[in-house]
Amino acid sequence: MIPPPQDPYRRRIDYLRLSVTDRCNLRCTYCMPREGVQKLPHEDILRYEEILRLVRIVTAMGISKIRITGGEPLVRKDLLYLCESIARFSGLKSLSITTNGVLLPKFAKDLFGAGIKRINVSLDTLRPEKYAAITQMDCFHQVWDGILKAHEIGFRPIKLNAVVMRGINDDEIEDLGRLTFRYPFHVRFIEFMPFQAEAGDQRFLSADDILSRLSRVAPLVAAPKDGDTNGPASHFRFRDALGKIGIISPVSHHFCPTCNRLRVTADGGLRTCLFSTSEVDLRTPLRGGASEERIMEIIRRAIVEKPEKHSLESAVFRKCISRPMFSIGG
Ligand code: SAM
Ligand code: SF4
Repeated sequence: MIPPPQDPYRRRIDYLRLSVTDRCNLRCTYCMPREGVQKLPHEDILRYEEILRLVRIVTAMGISKIRITGGEPLVRKDLLYLCESIARFSGLKSLSITTNGVLLPKFAKDLFGAGIKRINVSLDTLRPEKYAAITQMDCFHQVWDGILKAHEIGFRPIKLNAVVMRGINDDEIEDLGRLTFRYPFHVRFIEFMPFQAEAGDQRFLSADDILSRLSRVAPLVAAPKDGDTNGPASHFRFRDALGKIGIISPVSHHFCPTCNRLRVTADGGLRTCLFSTSEVDLRTPLRGGASEERIMEIIRRAIVEKPEKHSLESAVFRKCISRPMFSIGG
């Protein structure tokens, strides 16, 4: 195994979140700008051969975990071909996908066959009407059927991601947590990040508040971390539950000291921090025939510049950066 690159803060960078599209079949209010979406021009989006070249390069550098994301990755044409091709890289220890689940009933079986065994599905509510209000699409049952199908097919782990918003779905924290008694899912609660927030937005609820609501259900005990991604979640479980609870708190507690990740946007922008203002263009060298060594050098230089931490107080975070989540690749 090739040792992963290290940044100046001794973080081992072994994880890439790879966005394959900025398109999406939902319009989640916390993710998409209210005024509508400026789509990337088609020709700017990395082609599959460019993505596969990039994967070859990063795996040769010691990146061993890749998560496919978007936008909604399952809306990209022939995604199964891409998954299958990435799964063949011998240097990869983990290949996973983050999806809104709408197309899971259609694709779950083939995704599994293509070599993806780990899946994260976004699910902010268990109530169909509220689902429609949050995502602006009436797809709750499709998503829930997709999750059950993924479970039946054998995806492990299945992680359900809920963005918690005060006054919108915080009344369901307990019910979402109780799912872990019934299913071996990891239910993860994510602090709402104010990407599109306007002054006076009250939706933010802290991880500590989320935990205290959960502890009304039953006592929570610490659970071991996943070995796979060194991810940002803190892990708990209810005694006797089948699944785990995760809390992801980008706003109230920094997970920067253990951040092991890079992101590549659908148009080939390399971001070393979710909250960066800057990106390194990989599309031009990938498309322009730059050598693998040259592209490795560009990536290595970006890793050296990876910020030590993001500042939530900064104007950058408040304005939330140059791109919203669907466009960065969450
Ligand atoms: N479309 C896929 C999905 O929804 O799972 C993958 C991309 S989506 C951008 C990835 C994750 O970002 C989702 O779990 C979503 O809930 C999260 N996300 C988007 N906007 C967010 C925000 N403002 N605060 C916290 N999480 C957010
Ligand atoms: Fe689409 Fe995912 Fe953003 Fe929702 S969170 S709008 S599903 S990209």
